[in-house]
Amino acid sequence: MDEIDIFKILVQAEEKKKRAQPLVNSFEVKEILPCFTTPGYIRFVAQADHELGEVIPIIFLRYPPGKTTYTGKENTLTLRLFNRMITLFPSGKIGVTNTKDVNEAHEVLQKIKEIINEAYSEYIKFGKPNPGDIEAARKISWIDLYNCLPQTNCGECGYQTCSALALSVLQGEAKLSQCTPMREPKYLMNLEKLRKTLGPFLLRALCWKEVP
Ligand code: SF4
Repeated sequence: MDEIDIFKILVQAEEKKKRAQPLVNSFEVKEILPCFTTPGYIRFVAQADHELGEVIPIIFLRYPPGKTTYTGKENTLTLRLFNRMITLFPSGKIGVTNTKDVNEAHEVLQKIKEIINEAYSEYIKFGKPNPGDIEAARKISWIDLYNCLPQTNCGECGYQTCSALALSVLQGEAKLSQCTPMREPKYLMNLEKLRKTLGPFLLRALCWKEVP
């Protein structure tokens, strides 16, 4: 066994070790303040036990654009999840609004930890996301999505028009897979356009399920 083989084995072992470990194990609640929006509720600031810079873009790509605000330069992400705003900072700081009390704060932090660690698993597996995918997710509009749909307003998706489904999908209130006609052979060109326009990350974030 030469030095290169040994090096490869060591790298693989290190990757395996990382894969088995979560990025974040715990949070410390640093500050509790009155919530701006709901009287009697709190907002709070917590600190994770690890920096989050590498996973923030991945978390951004896992949610529909209407549920997120991502500032590429500062690499901060606000998620509209669980009926509250959750802001993640690269330093590991986390701001959360609209929370009933400290007990609920810990429940929310547990969910945030799962989100972070799932994204970290993806990071370990596939590395940093492509800047093109991030840009596509930032720029996508309902018109782009509408242009890929069959535009028959058939109502099969539960919405009266294709434009209504496109809007709801981007807001994270509907799934792209609700447009079942897209799977019909006559809309194969639309499906190809959809795959090309959205790319794999947006397709996943907008809940499109490829049929094997
Ligand atoms: S099922 Fe598809 S084609 Fe029919 S209205 Fe909904 S989005 Fe349009």
